[in-house]
Amino acid sequence: MRHTLFPQLLLLLFFAVQPAVGDEDLTTTYREDAGRIIGAALTDEEGWEKLTYLTTVIGARLSGSEQLEQAIAWATETLQDEGFDNVSNQPVDVTHWVRGQESARVVAPIHRDLAILGLGRSVGTPVEGIEAPAVVVASFDELEALGRAAVEGKIVVYAVPWEGYGKTVRYRGDGASRAAALGAVAVLVRSATGRSIASPHTGALRYSDDAPRIPAAAITVEDAEWMQRLVNMGHELRLALSMDATTLPDAESANVVAEIRGSQYPEEVVVMGGHFDSWDVGQGAHDDGAGCIAAWQALRILQRLGLQPRRTLRLVLWTNEENGLAGGKAYREWVGERIDNHVAAIEMDGGAERPLGFGFGLNGVEPDSGDPTYESALEQLQAVGNLLAGIEAGQIFRGGGGAHIGPLVKSGVPGLGLKTVGEHYFDWHHTEADTLDKIDPQDFKRAVAMLAVMGYVLADMPGRLVSADSYGPLAAASP
Ligand SMILES: [Zn+2]
Repeated sequence: MRHTLFPQLLLLLFFAVQPAVGDEDLTTTYREDAGRIIGAALTDEEGWEKLTYLTTVIGARLSGSEQLEQAIAWATETLQDEGFDNVSNQPVDVTHWVRGQESARVVAPIHRDLAILGLGRSVGTPVEGIEAPAVVVASFDELEALGRAAVEGKIVVYAVPWEGYGKTVRYRGDGASRAAALGAVAVLVRSATGRSIASPHTGALRYSDDAPRIPAAAITVEDAEWMQRLVNMGHELRLALSMDATTLPDAESANVVAEIRGSQYPEEVVVMGGHFDSWDVGQGAHDDGAGCIAAWQALRILQRLGLQPRRTLRLVLWTNEENGLAGGKAYREWVGERIDNHVAAIEMDGGAERPLGFGFGLNGVEPDSGDPTYESALEQLQAVGNLLAGIEAGQIFRGGGGAHIGPLVKSGVPGLGLKTVGEHYFDWHHTEADTLDKIDPQDFKRAVAMLAVMGYVLADMPGRLVSADSYGPLAAASP
């Protein structure tokens, strides 16, 4: 309690902390501006109000849906009203997959409804549905060991253990085609999460060209383990599945763009944002309404403080991350030859839990390789991170980026992804539970402060984070 009586002393202590590593000049030069930005972000209510509106009134925003286009129109209009520069929409054609009605049931050894979520891009079942015996497997190896004789005509249930998102998500992506290649008629995939409270997680699948396209849906962790137990106990499992899912012709959508034009090098750009689309369940709060609104509000805070950086700071609310990545690709195409002018790309798409800092990636560079360009950039970033130490959000991690800035990073643009503690993100994302109540307003405001400070300093600092010379060879190394 005592230290609340001495805010100045606390402030002095904070400023007296010397940066452990990095370019002290950046820390010193931007200390005062960063203090103002952080103060403004932590007391700002407008950003939270926007996130509340987006999640509560508009809600889930799947590519091709009216809600996504409503969100895009609202953001564009509001950004115009707020007086940003070059507010515009970049047209993007996006996948238009529609879930429709869906249900699944265990019909033997007992009757019981299953909670499911069809996987994005899945085909539907015939109108009368599919009823078939089921086979439960815990891995692709187990599936393939069973072979066609045991799999043909059956519904494959993947009761795969959680081994982290990157590993387990392969069953969501490839499970349908791998089972279809052995004659399966449908698949149910355990949700890609470690914990579950009876909430299935959707997400996109990938059909391969050399197998029939069969319906696929996610089931809960509870049901996957329960069905596995039934089979282990010697019961014959029989399932019924009905899905209306269908893919319509591509729909028109757009990336939303707005800028604070640079005062000295307006053609040089720091781009920052998140993806505005979400799955069609929940409210797209953590994934990725929070990232979009935090980046937007970061620009808004700078605008309000009259902080115009030397370079242009550009907000992009990318469309269609969840089932296509068309927004990120369209942005990269639009940038074209001007890629050399992109000084940095910052993405927030890991949820809005308590933030820790930023992960930093440079194309073609192993973060631990000691590469001098990478190390120099890392030092500068840590100097900026030091400005965020007071809100415990200034760590710079080796390696990082994001899905939508991926095409930019592949062309050599330094990429930063906002990092959080990540304790529950994968419990919520792509489920009905990705809702505003899961976000702590203080964590969200800290993210706004981080994006504003990082975006501002990278756009304003005298030199570029990475010399444009590094882009050529790096860009040539990949498409
Ligand atoms: Zn996302």
